[in-house]
Amino acid sequence: MMKIVEQCDECGKGTMQEKKVDYVLLGQNLGKFAALVCNHCAETVFGGDTFQIIEKKARKKGLWGIAAKTRIGTSGNALDVKLPKLIVEFMHLQKGQEVLIEPMDKKRFQVNVVG
Ligand SMILES: [Zn+2]
Repeated sequence: MMKIVEQCDECGKGTMQEKKVDYVLLGQNLGKFAALVCNHCAETVFGGDTFQIIEKKARKKGLWGIAAKTRIGTSGNALDVKLPKLIVEFMHLQKGQEVLIEPMDKKRFQVNVVG
């Protein structure tokens, strides 16, 4: 087999080397997959075929396509955000649970379940 030494697109200094690396999605490890990893900046690239396998595994575990659009509604004087069912089920959220909301910037906020 011919060995092709590829330079890293990200840093331009390192070379990409074949490695098996863990793929973690939504905090769950899907297993080790073949990837090219830069020996300088650790940039990791999965091949298209590998990525299809990863996607299949993620779908099986219900970890794929969890992000969903929702709208801001009103509740008295406050605004509320309806949580899509997929997210509720994935996170096992329940009515009355306490959450901490903090803005990350003007476009994003983070909700942490605290209770
Ligand atoms: Zn690099």
